[in-house]
Amino acid sequence: MHAKGGISRLAPSPTGALHLGHACTFVANWLLARKSGWRLLLRLDDLDAPRVQSSGHDVLDTLRWLGLDWDGEPIRQSARLDRYRAAMHALAQAGAVYESPHTRSEVREAAAAVGAPHEGEGHARFPDALRPSDRGAWRFVDAAVNHRVHTLDEGTTVHDQVMGSHDFHVHRDHGDFLVWTKAGVPSYQLACAVDDGELGVTDVVRGADLLESAALQTRLLRTLRLPEPRWWHLPLVRNAQGDRLAKRDGAEGLAGLQRDGVPADRVRGLVAWWIGMAPLAPITRDALLQRCDPDALLPSLRAMHASGGPRVHAATLAWLHGDDAAADTLATHVRG
Ligand code: GLU
Repeated sequence: MHAKGGISRLAPSPTGALHLGHACTFVANWLLARKSGWRLLLRLDDLDAPRVQSSGHDVLDTLRWLGLDWDGEPIRQSARLDRYRAAMHALAQAGAVYESPHTRSEVREAAAAVGAPHEGEGHARFPDALRPSDRGAWRFVDAAVNHRVHTLDEGTTVHDQVMGSHDFHVHRDHGDFLVWTKAGVPSYQLACAVDDGELGVTDVVRGADLLESAALQTRLLRTLRLPEPRWWHLPLVRNAQGDRLAKRDGAEGLAGLQRDGVPADRVRGLVAWWIGMAPLAPITRDALLQRCDPDALLPSLRAMHASGGPRVHAATLAWLHGDDAAADTLATHVRG
């Protein structure tokens, strides 16, 4: 269904246990890649030092347990700092980045002074008033100093394969956003855009929580003259109350399920059912690969989005733990 020669990537952060939402996204991404003849990279987003809890091995073990494979050695962002520095120099050359040593509270105060709306969780839009007027600050000092990218006062439409077209206005809603942090490493937005652009990723498949990030990354890709990928943002898996699964939702954590002796065939079976590729039953990796109809996958992912995304109920966990009768309860819920 999709052109061969594509490249996609699994991009876990080794910051904590993966949960059923990750399983859903990663299995769908792997199936898309394998059925479409794309190369599938494995990228470890390991720059967020204080939050990085493991060397990444646990995450890889969990992916292998799910039966997923990828092409080539895992790519660690921590090993690509030279590439991000080069990108920062290119952005500086284009006059698009500046040093921004303001503290979070200075940003909040300046935002309040102009009556800027808050984005929630205490994260204020970065006000234009804090853009340096001194041209000398529009540069990249390769040090542990925050740097921001100049955002354009215009809208960006993200055309998503699964979620449709969405209009964002990065300047109005975020203002100039961080591209380099006071930890001396690139922000997620910069590292991700540089990796996807430079590694030739044609298809970015990830959770719907990152849809708006596609607009921020588009700004960076365009300024760096890197190709823009196709976007596939998949619905988040929620708990029975409709809240996002947190990484620490113990019972739904994949490592916990594995420890409890839940077979990977059941986790794969659940995901295969969620994404509409099979009835609810344990399934081996090869059977799933064989069963998956690539032409049905995109319409099915769109239907999953339209229905609000999968949910993890008590019966879901019971089924994972071997209670086959729980499948009847689940059948009464729409897609779990
Ligand atoms: N590492 C990011 C996460 O786990 C995903 C980044 C991406 O796919 O762009 O949320």
